[in-house]
Amino acid sequence: MSTIPDRPRDPRTISALTDTSEEQWSAAASADLYGIREWGADYFHVNDDGLVTVRVPFGDKSASVPLMSIVQGMKERGLEMPVVLRIENLLDHRITQLNEAFAKAIAGAGYRNEYRGVFPIKVNQQFHVIEEIASFGARYHHGLEAGSKAELIIALSQLEDPESLIVCNGYKDAEFIELGLYAVQMGIRCFFVAETPAEIPIIIERSKAMGIRPLIGVRMKLSAKVDGYWAADSGDQSIFGLTPSQLISVIDQLKAADMLDCLQLLHAHIGSQIPNIRNIRVGVLEACRYYVSLVEEGAPMGYLDLGGGLAVDYDGTRSNSTHSMNYRLDEYCVDIVEAVIETLDSADVPHPVIVTESGRATVAYSSVLLFNVLDVRKPEPANLPAQPPEDAHELIVNLATVMSSITPSNLQESFNDALYYRDEVYELFRHGQMNLRHRALADKYCRAVLYKIAQLLPQARRVSPELEALPELLSDVYYGNFSVFQSLPDIWAIDQLFPIMPIERLKEKPTRQAILADLTCDCDGKIDRFAHPNGELTRLPLHAVNRGEEYHLAVFLVGAYQETLGDLHNLFGDTNVVSVRIEEDGHFEFVREFQGDRIADVLTYVEYNPQDMLEKFRKSAERAVRRGKISPAARKEMLQAFTDSLRGYTYFER
Ligand SMILES: *Cc1c(COP(=O)(O)O)cnc(C)c1O
Repeated sequence: MSTIPDRPRDPRTISALTDTSEEQWSAAASADLYGIREWGADYFHVNDDGLVTVRVPFGDKSASVPLMSIVQGMKERGLEMPVVLRIENLLDHRITQLNEAFAKAIAGAGYRNEYRGVFPIKVNQQFHVIEEIASFGARYHHGLEAGSKAELIIALSQLEDPESLIVCNGYKDAEFIELGLYAVQMGIRCFFVAETPAEIPIIIERSKAMGIRPLIGVRMKLSAKVDGYWAADSGDQSIFGLTPSQLISVIDQLKAADMLDCLQLLHAHIGSQIPNIRNIRVGVLEACRYYVSLVEEGAPMGYLDLGGGLAVDYDGTRSNSTHSMNYRLDEYCVDIVEAVIETLDSADVPHPVIVTESGRATVAYSSVLLFNVLDVRKPEPANLPAQPPEDAHELIVNLATVMSSITPSNLQESFNDALYYRDEVYELFRHGQMNLRHRALADKYCRAVLYKIAQLLPQARRVSPELEALPELLSDVYYGNFSVFQSLPDIWAIDQLFPIMPIERLKEKPTRQAILADLTCDCDGKIDRFAHPNGELTRLPLHAVNRGEEYHLAVFLVGAYQETLGDLHNLFGDTNVVSVRIEEDGHFEFVREFQGDRIADVLTYVEYNPQDMLEKFRKSAERAVRRGKISPAARKEMLQAFTDSLRGYTYFER
């Protein structure tokens, strides 16, 4: 019991656990309960029918579609859960908002240059996402940021608009640089951003050898620190970027090679998901000081790249907590533009093109992970006998007595007694003095006692920490058809919070409190922390589900970082992916469908050859036929089942 971590007591979840009355409930009450108005950014709502809808703005109007209608459409097309749903319109809308918010801030402040966004490919490399950003973004000359050769190849093949920028970060070898130089020769504005002084000699050597003048940027390490999850990696602790003395070395190398005119961009990225606008402002001011210094050193400059960091309000608290942000997009843009004007005007330096590399804020909203619930484990023991059986051990009789005498005033005593008798039972079982059936019955009584205590906790006057942790320990477990490791790796890796809720039955009151378990048999394959505007929840209110009944949940705001960071734990592969485009009249079209990994696919990732596996299985089956263990007809069926499985989805199929 002492291993239960102390967590703040959440009065809401505790009272909801005990409150099973079917009082008045409404779709609006569900919207409140799950905080969708706070984190949904007006893209997600609960409608009067109790369904979660996605709302797409069209100028002053908008169209809303229930996610369940999309799920229905998928089922009709044979696309099974889990599915990553991409809503293309939301991606377009985010790009529009980002560019228009900067345009407005620039016009409002009288800034004498423009904004050019670039999307960092690493945040979501999937072809359909990049293709949409490149084609829709062309109207704003929205470009791409590449951190590797593979990403540069994506950028070169996908960008159509020559006005868009390509910004190359990361370590660059000669091959990377040659590729970028060819792009420059073709008229593409492809910048090499030096992360270390060691890259400069290669850039100089390759460009001289090829006779192409490169476009060079420098990435500075800022001393400005940021709040939030990445705090430890910011400021002087950052492993990226040049120190001031390294910057001087870069300038000197370029001067010596007569290439200082190629240095046109300053890059600073102070971190991802920056919840506090003050940090951003301080970072921009520091970056501007380096920009001014580079102009003073004689570099032509012209581009100020402020990196990513624009946050997403995952929990809807609008605060400077790790999973939130205490500013709005227009405030972010105005603050940046004003900070640049302030520093550069006082140094009499012309205004540069402002570049940002917003990844998370561009793509998070457009993807939703949809999954169904496969099974539910409830804490309260079913069919407890009214009396212990005649032959029950004395310890079981004692547990039954504890059970029948619990009152709000003896909770601690009942708890202590129950655990004492339970441990005695374990002892007897270990020594072969109690059989399996009696041990199981003792467990049942013990759980019944704990559950009853949890129910009576709100009526108790004083509650010890061990009792306080009980309701959480006694949560329902809803088994979902998904893998945390494949689809939500940041939950496992960095304790990221995402908003999660049912997408149907929201006119009904959710009467259960649950944690979610995934399909992996890993004890980390669970979700027991949920983003909520009133503070993080340790259990999620859900509806009771009868066996065989379908129940769908969604994890929202998963468009950034989740898909490619996911791994093949237990060999659960990529999920099915569906892109929809919603029309003004509320109709929607499945514009793209991408079948997730089949079992044969994931086996090849770990170096198996499915053809060989089938052959080996065929041989075993043939031997079994020879030995008379199975008939040739049974052999045929077994081989068919084996082949069908190889072609099957890695997730649970109904
Ligand atoms: C990861 C990264 C980004 C994206 O940051 P977001 O916070 O997702 O906007 C931008 N620039 C660089 C250099 C990065 O490494």
